[in-house]
Amino acid sequence: MKIGILAIQGDFELHRKALTSLSINSSFVRSSKDLDDIKALILPGGESTTMSLLMNKFDLFNSIRKFSDNFNLFGTCAGAILMSAGSGDQKVKNLGLINVFTKRNSWGAQIDSFSDIINLSKNEILSDKFYATFIRGPRFLKVSKDCKVIGRYKNEPVLIRNDKHLISSFHPEIGKDLSIHKYFINMINE
Ligand code: GLN
Repeated sequence: MKIGILAIQGDFELHRKALTSLSINSSFVRSSKDLDDIKALILPGGESTTMSLLMNKFDLFNSIRKFSDNFNLFGTCAGAILMSAGSGDQKVKNLGLINVFTKRNSWGAQIDSFSDIINLSKNEILSDKFYATFIRGPRFLKVSKDCKVIGRYKNEPVLIRNDKHLISSFHPEIGKDLSIHKYFINMINE
């Protein structure tokens, strides 16, 4: 199985490193044809406005949407913003893959970046705690009933899934604990 990582801007290298550590093949996605031989896609953190522009430029917006009908997506930070239903920002083109609204830069500016323990719903893959890094992350608002909140920080949702897709407002690729990636890999096999 090969997982693709959108590699037009942002933190794609670290996701590749995480997948390699878990012995998962990965490839970078920069055009529609790169979606042909992958079984899932990660949208990394970065700048959702820039990624919106580049997804349009490289003709990726509609092909990623089509891909998401049949395959799993995992969006971290800016990737989560792109996957959400809306962010109230005209510069962002939301894919609308998960019924959650996002408010950009809602945990503070770059200088307010922080790492702290978040609480997870424990299962066979996840333990009840994860040390998460937040870098100008979004807040998740109006989480609809078809979504499941898997992670919370100070009672606010920070890791959410629906049937096929997963979003985090933090950066699970930073640090040694790769359990959130493992959880996503397990979703692909569900
Ligand atoms: N603030 C960025 C945005 O709005 C996201 C930051 C990140 O991905 N670390 O797109």
